Amino acid sequence: MDEIRIKNLEVFAFHGVYREENVLGQKFLVDASLFLDTRRAGLTDELECSVSYGDVCRLIDREMKSQNAKLLECVAEHLADQILHTFSSVKEVEIEIKKPWAPVRMHMDYASVRIKRKWHDTFIGVGSNMGDRKQYINNAENEIRSLSEIRNLRMAPVIETEPYGYTNQGKFLNTVFSFETLYTPEELLEELHRIEKNANRERKIHWGPRTLDLDILLYDDLITQEEKLTIPHPEMTKRLFVLEPLCHLYPQGIHPLLHRRFMDIYEELKKEEQENG
Ligand code: ATP
Ligand code: CA
Ligand code: CA
Repeated sequence: MDEIRIKNLEVFAFHGVYREENVLGQKFLVDASLFLDTRRAGLTDELECSVSYGDVCRLIDREMKSQNAKLLECVAEHLADQILHTFSSVKEVEIEIKKPWAPVRMHMDYASVRIKRKWHDTFIGVGSNMGDRKQYINNAENEIRSLSEIRNLRMAPVIETEPYGYTNQGKFLNTVFSFETLYTPEELLEELHRIEKNANRERKIHWGPRTLDLDILLYDDLITQEEKLTIPHPEMTKRLFVLEPLCHLYPQGIHPLLHRRFMDIYEELKKEEQENG
């Protein structure tokens, strides 16, 4: 990705743990790197195709003066969040906030905090086989859409499928959501659990009937192996009801662990299941 950089933007603000800092204020220096695709701006020479660094500087100045935080961490988090929400072409941002006059009674060039934040690409497996199944799925879509840390949600066509694992239960409606998110995987799982709870989800029988099930299938190319959160979702390559809607949204996708196309995994599994009747 291309990069737009701002170096040592001077902002006078009032952040700090000490009361004196909040009253007297001091100089901060801000570095910001915005990661985006500048190809179209490069070819057309049109500012609308890119991000105005003047606008970014004004946003940083305004936001740093709008509240007093104790920690540089908090200031950096807020700036990253504001930039990612304001400039839709920006996928990723790196912010460093330097405090050259930090009151430590020793000489140093500065103390600083540097963070990277980005819109992560994620895919969520969605299932329902109790009550008004379509309504549960639509509600989940709307709830996710309304979260501020989510953008560009897409939903694959809903399919009806036979139950999996525990087969003595009603048919499922399944789909996949894809969206970008600023949440960490753990935060995202927490939000999904909250939405399942709002849909009166109960966990009684493993793989049993449910009003709503939301599984994290993929989160960028992340690989985790914990009981609470395993990504890619360990069962996804065995499930046509996941692979079909996933391939609809992400036909070019590659499994981060197996290094195989989801399309190929899907075709192979479909053939296998057809042969087995
Ligand atoms: P399966 O995970 O095989 O589809 P399930 O969806 O019926 O089964 P749940 O009862 O919904 O299973 O979830 C059990 C636990 O799985 C959750 O509490 C969660 O912590 C954990 N889990 C691990 N990896 C994931 C993931 N990628 N997405 C969602 N939950 C996960
Ligand atoms: Ca599941
Ligand atoms: Ca689940």
